[in-house]
Amino acid sequence: MKNHTNTDHDIIIAGAGPAGLTAGIYAGRAGLNVLILEKEAPGGKVIKTGEIENYPGFTNINGPDLAMNFYEQAMAMGAQLEYSGLKQFDKVDDIFKVSLENGKEITSKALIIATGTKENLLGVPGEGDLYGKGVSYCAVCDGSFYKEMPVAVVGGGYSAVEEAIFLTRFASKVYLIHRREEFRVDNKTLDKAKSNPKIEFILNTTVEKINGSNKVESVDIINLNGEKTNLTVDAIFPFIGQYPITEFINHKDILNDERHIKADENMKTSVEGLFVAGDVRVTPFRQIATAVSDGALAGQNAVYYIENLD
Ligand SMILES: Cc1cc2nc3c(=O)[nH]c(=O)nc-3n(C[C@H](O)[C@H](O)[C@H](O)COP(=O)(O)OP(=O)(O)OC[C@H]3O[C@@H](n4cnc5c(N)ncnc54)[C@H](O)[C@@H]3O)c2cc1C
Repeated sequence: MKNHTNTDHDIIIAGAGPAGLTAGIYAGRAGLNVLILEKEAPGGKVIKTGEIENYPGFTNINGPDLAMNFYEQAMAMGAQLEYSGLKQFDKVDDIFKVSLENGKEITSKALIIATGTKENLLGVPGEGDLYGKGVSYCAVCDGSFYKEMPVAVVGGGYSAVEEAIFLTRFASKVYLIHRREEFRVDNKTLDKAKSNPKIEFILNTTVEKINGSNKVESVDIINLNGEKTNLTVDAIFPFIGQYPITEFINHKDILNDERHIKADENMKTSVEGLFVAGDVRVTPFRQIATAVSDGALAGQNAVYYIENLD
């Protein structure tokens, strides 16, 4: 006999990025009691993104504006938001028992994990000490502090190239440092960066050290031939990949070797009632459009799961 009638919520969603908020829109619209947990700010990485040109429906939209649209729509559909992180969860007698970082213990019939990813660190001297003093992982949040100053961006994917372009709004110069020759972006994005006179490409090069006593003053870089240079910059923005936020997961069998969560095409994990959506999932492509698609599937399939419990 299943014991799932008395829970605080029908569905708990961990993470209020595009994936979690979309799951909230679908589950809330179905009339269920939905709680979304968020440890930072609703919108997820979209708040930290400058201009977005590849989210359908908007030729060009500011990240924070799109994030606010997602959030307001989820709330309008009846989902609730609690500002606390999911700390731990367990499934006991068909009920999810969820511990929050604020100390609360709550229960639900279904759980959706949409906690996204966190940025990889460069792991070089100075990065930790100068974090918040010129070392930043968010161009939208901190770019405007560097008006008419030289800055560096590190990386070769979309985040690095797009944020380098965004930073040219403020900075006098943007050094785009990449350890390879080839970039993992489409030609249109790369051409936009190449034709921007403020961006200087520094290829086949890595960062060795970030220098500065109280704030970033320069970075030491080294190229593949072993030649070392010192670049005077006031800030450095590393965008060198991400790792999934899954440290709270006890069911190790639902994780792959890189600790992303495995799921089928309906976003179902091998734990009944546990769904996943967005960047935290094992997926070949991590974008807003794919996170939103995952969120719709996870939200709707969580609704079907609950409807079929009895
Ligand atoms: C700089 C940058 C630029 C980008 N530009 C684009 C672009 O132009 N176009 C595009 O399509 N994509 C872009 N992306 C990628 C896009 O932002 C992500 O693919 C998308 O945000 C993933 O959505 P998500 O909901 O899975 O995760 P996220 O957006 O990462 O949201 C996850 C949320 O979960 C929260 N969270 C984490 N742990 C917990 C916890 N334990 N409990 C509760 N909440 C938790 C986080 O605080 C966060 O709010 C960019 C990414 C970056 C970093």
